[in-house]
Amino acid sequence: MADPSSAHLTDGLGRRITYLRISVTDRCDLRCRYCMAERMQFLPKNQVLTLEEIALLADLFIARGVTKIRLTGGEPLVRRDIGDLAHRIGRHLGQGLDELTLTTNGVRLAVHADMLHDAGVRRINVSLDSLDAARFAHITRGGDLNAVRQGLDAAAEAGLAVKINMVALKGINDNEILPMLRWCNTQGFDLTLIETMPLGDIEGDRADNYLPLTHVVDTIRQSHALTPLPHRTGGPARYHAVEGMQVRLGLITPLTNNFCADCNRIRMTCEGKIFMCLGHEDHVDFKTALREGGLPAVNPLIDRALRLKPASHDFHIGLGETHPATRRHMSVTGG
Ligand code: SAM
Ligand code: SF4
Repeated sequence: MADPSSAHLTDGLGRRITYLRISVTDRCDLRCRYCMAERMQFLPKNQVLTLEEIALLADLFIARGVTKIRLTGGEPLVRRDIGDLAHRIGRHLGQGLDELTLTTNGVRLAVHADMLHDAGVRRINVSLDSLDAARFAHITRGGDLNAVRQGLDAAAEAGLAVKINMVALKGINDNEILPMLRWCNTQGFDLTLIETMPLGDIEGDRADNYLPLTHVVDTIRQSHALTPLPHRTGGPARYHAVEGMQVRLGLITPLTNNFCADCNRIRMTCEGKIFMCLGHEDHVDFKTALREGGLPAVNPLIDRALRLKPASHDFHIGLGETHPATRRHMSVTGG
């Protein structure tokens, strides 16, 4: 009989899991208002997986059929050994792993762009919610737009394809969405818009700035026809061609258009917890198993985690909901 723990990853609803997001740190050099509170309590270092532990777990997931890995956080580029980790995982490219990518705020990208390309990364997501320096500093609580722009230049020089992630925020950056789309088009970037999700306390009510992307799409359509594209990158975004432009417009709409039915993702936190869904608390702890029993102790836990994957998240914003769906911030589970 075949060893069930060597089988490919399929959850209890028959969804094949091929995409692992690894949050390599919960720390960040920004404090985006929709993501974090101003004062955050980060994990002590000894609770965080070492590079070697993350790499071993990545090996195991690739052996079990994961073909795409995204390094994220927190801010992945604040982790000191990120280059070694990227190279270590990148060794699997072409040998089980089809793609290694990264999501970053771009602040330290100028330093790391060449390293990422050397490690085999070819596409990155850079989060950028405003092209106005003062507004960018407001949203990120002190971030330097110039550093991000230098990072983007370095990424282009290093040969990394860039997709910009922009969280749509009512009353904050809604008047910049069309300009951002046009700017991405001139830069050769794609743009993905994201609805703000109710994850973790942020000192404020997300409902105040929640902007349904259905409204944004209606506005864009007044000047550019949008045509749905079959293009997929393995994530939740649905893409559209924009009339008169090269840029692809991605929409991540957890609130207005649930995308869970074909979810292929699981997420590992920097302390080795596997979450099967951004919006649920259920998880399996790999760190203790790995530290006490090594990889043989972890393999059966993967199967337990698969059984925990829920049919869908249960996000609501406004509608009398006052609490986030989870106490975890996106930066812990990894966006
Ligand atoms: N620090 C990196 C960055 O900002 O790109 C990677 C981690 S961040 C958590 C990943 C993505 O999640 C970013 O594009 C960010 O804008 C998005 N994000 C964070 N909190 C969010 C929330 N509550 N709702 C929607 N998107 C969120
Ligand atoms: Fe940091 Fe990314 Fe969260 Fe902004 S969205 S606070 S850059 S982890």
